[in-house]
Amino acid sequence: MHIKKITIKNFKSFGKKVEIPLERGFTVISGPNGSGKSNIIDSIIFCLGLHSSSKVLRAEKLTDLIYSGNGRRLGTAEVEIVFEPDNGEELRISRKVRVTEKNYYSNYYINGKPASHGEVVRVLEKAGIYSDAYNIVMQGDVTRIVEMTPMQRRKIIDDIAGISEFEEKKARAIEE
Ligand code: ATP
Ligand code: MG
Repeated sequence: MHIKKITIKNFKSFGKKVEIPLERGFTVISGPNGSGKSNIIDSIIFCLGLHSSSKVLRAEKLTDLIYSGNGRRLGTAEVEIVFEPDNGEELRISRKVRVTEKNYYSNYYINGKPASHGEVVRVLEKAGIYSDAYNIVMQGDVTRIVEMTPMQRRKIIDDIAGISEFEEKKARAIEE
């Protein structure tokens, strides 16, 4: 399964509707500083609900994700991701955040139908994408890993390999 297309509307620096088609395999997105490369990654995290905190998206609150280039932040930010499976039907997941004078709303959709965050998590798990896994290497992560002590780095490898879980169980067992 791979991401076939990302459509971004009114999200962060993308004031206009932008469609990003992706081929199978390796894709590189290049551009000057501040041109919106990381915002594309943020759009994926937002749409799939991969992190519960908006801080990961470099936003204080969800509504900060709405395009503000025209001086105000009203309307709807929207991201849609189309997955192309190796076999079977195409999967479309989208998420909107809408702000009105008084309130704001955030909604997920699976193939155009309203869905809960839990339903999105489950449909992604079926496709082998786990929302609590290390899916995205964020800007700065590599530098952080390089600058870590060997013990801190070992902890990350243990987490990825799934050893930490057993280490914790072992520590609890020894305590008892
Ligand atoms: P770098 O190469 O430095 O990592 P980048 O291409 O990853 O840069 P981004 O971090 O994706 O750049 O984009 C940053 C830009 O997005 C900033 O100019 C910021 O003002 C703009 N931006 C963020 N949120 C919004 C918003 N809600 N409305 C309009 N612009 C926004
Ligand atoms: Mg960046």
